[in-house]
Amino acid sequence: MSFKQPELPYALDGLAPFLSEEQMSFHYGKHQAAYFNNLNGLVDGKPEAELPLKELIVKAEGPVFNNAAQAWNHSFFWKCLSPLGGGAPSGELLSLIERDFGSFDQFKEQFSTAAAKLFGSGWTWLAADGQGKLAIMPLSNADTPLKHGAEPLLTLDVWEHAYYIDYRNLRPKFIEGFWDVVNWEFVAGNLTSPFQE
Ligand code: MN
Repeated sequence: MSFKQPELPYALDGLAPFLSEEQMSFHYGKHQAAYFNNLNGLVDGKPEAELPLKELIVKAEGPVFNNAAQAWNHSFFWKCLSPLGGGAPSGELLSLIERDFGSFDQFKEQFSTAAAKLFGSGWTWLAADGQGKLAIMPLSNADTPLKHGAEPLLTLDVWEHAYYIDYRNLRPKFIEGFWDVVNWEFVAGNLTSPFQE
């Protein structure tokens, strides 16, 4: 058995003008594809190849962890975005954001600042801990809330490869555009039925 990169949930140019077809074709078609290829090479013929990807991430260390987590993080990230996204969350998710961050605007500001300040490569996450409390987690490289006993709700990839074709060095502009495509329905769904794939 080998791990298979999921289909992108929209066309490569579906998120334009936030992300161009060229930016997405490198990010999805080259970067994420390479993590799957590397992972499959590392676990070929080993028991790890039979585990669900999420379980492997929790157990693995070193290169297997790096490639497994990067494979999953991107699949999760694509689902966090939608050509029909943007706006604001509602219902239970909005209540939790208001409870734990004061307001949606304060949450956006804190998340954007954390993403802008994350030094080097990494991901900025919104995650729910074991007690259901929400937290912003800026994590380096492939690190994920799954490794810290928390469930991912939303993420933003701030590796340079995520934005350099479209935004060059301007990470804050990339972060600003992100809010126009966030798929709040998917984010809210992770509260009750966490993303597996
Ligand atoms: Mn990436």
